[in-house]
Amino acid sequence: MTISIAIVGAGPSGFYAAQALVDRGVDCHIDLIETLPTPYGLIRGGVAPDHQHTKRVTRTYEETAGEPQVNFYGNVEVGRDVSILELRSMYDAVILAIGMPMDRGLNLIGGYKRGVYGAAEFVGWYNGHPAYRDLDPLLEDKRVAIIGNGNVALDIGRLLVKTREEMTVTDMPDYAIDKIQNSPISDVYIFGRRGPAEAKFTNVELREIGRLADCAPIVDPDELPDEVPAGFSERDQRLRERNLATFRAFSEMDPSNKSKRLHFHFRSMPLEILGGDRVEGLRLQRTVVEDGEAMGTGRYYDVLCGTIIAAVGYRMGPLEGVPLDGRRGNVVNDGGRVEDGFFVVGWAKRGATGVISSNKPDGDQVAEIIANEITPGNRPGRPTFEEHLTSRGIRWVSFEDWRYIDEAEIAAAAEGMPRKKFVSVDEMITFLDKEESRDKS
Ligand code: NAP
Repeated sequence: MTISIAIVGAGPSGFYAAQALVDRGVDCHIDLIETLPTPYGLIRGGVAPDHQHTKRVTRTYEETAGEPQVNFYGNVEVGRDVSILELRSMYDAVILAIGMPMDRGLNLIGGYKRGVYGAAEFVGWYNGHPAYRDLDPLLEDKRVAIIGNGNVALDIGRLLVKTREEMTVTDMPDYAIDKIQNSPISDVYIFGRRGPAEAKFTNVELREIGRLADCAPIVDPDELPDEVPAGFSERDQRLRERNLATFRAFSEMDPSNKSKRLHFHFRSMPLEILGGDRVEGLRLQRTVVEDGEAMGTGRYYDVLCGTIIAAVGYRMGPLEGVPLDGRRGNVVNDGGRVEDGFFVVGWAKRGATGVISSNKPDGDQVAEIIANEITPGNRPGRPTFEEHLTSRGIRWVSFEDWRYIDEAEIAAAAEGMPRKKFVSVDEMITFLDKEESRDKS
């Protein structure tokens, strides 16, 4: 008997879970259900458009999609077109792999002002995500502030200061390239509430900032400690030592031959967004780091800027039938199990941490539970799901359909660029329907 399995979300964690089930030889049908007509989740909509080498991992996911047990249902939104409870009544097992699509948010005084953005929307905008392509961010001042000392803050900072030429090998949509390149941005500030040794940047990504064509990193050498404070694991200690060495090298670079600057400010906790109805500046409180925690000192300073982007982590949004941990922002689970027959993998399980391959063990763990515990054949899965979609008039997108989109995007790319993305769902569906009628005629 075959186990019917639905995986909600066709990003890395969804594909790794599907592959883990296939690799274990579980006799199953796996339906990968995705809101967008396009697969790959954060690889397409989150990974920076100038990090094409990272996006190559999709070739592995393509192989998974080609496995005979696996079907892709794009353009189906769980929570709108079908509920989690409905899926659980249709399938023997449901695996949630939806990542953390929402900004954690900062709740600063003045956070409502025009010019304040969260990383989820800003990154979605420059990656051509259909939900954010109309963001049209305010980029009219030469100074931009980014809050957070993680890799997402680095991605955003780097993409705001790259030259047009540096962008010609990316898949950033033209509207975003034009908006950034036509903006007056010359100084980007990245604020960490703790010190340089506590920053969460990975070293490869940090060093990239020292190799930009027309932007110099600015670090005050007095901000840099002689050594990494005690209390980190050996591995973390080494990573942080490398980061400190990189910051030291940055502090010795001559910025005078570059026209843009990326400033690292540490021990600075954001407090208030200044200005009238649009952003004019950011007020920060100086901190000291005690036992790894940032403590306010009561000393404040202001930085003038016209745009503020908070890159302070992600969380899940509410979804009926899914228990959330309000503090951590993830799905309440025990080793990947939410309830009997209901599982979670990836960021939705662990929180928004780690690199792409960190999602793999989650899939292995859940595949093992399913192989050992799920009784096959209780629920029909695919036929009932397709009937449900048809009765709702939902035009789902198959993996074959996605291949048409993929080929068309690659064919439409300007020379040197990997692809020209479709940035609206309507455009994609219209294109597919035209292709299908062409095939039929
Ligand atoms: P992150 O690495 O967790 O960094 C979040 C940053 O926000 C931290 O510096 C954190 O400071 C700060 N923060 C949180 N709350 C704050 C507050 N209230 N006020 C001020 N600062 C606050 O998260 P991320 O940058 O969103 O990245 C998510 C994951 O994706 C990470 O694992 C990252 O490595 C990964 N990623 C990897 C790449 C890559 O490999 N190229 C690219 C992008 C993302 P504290 O440390 O003090 O909490």
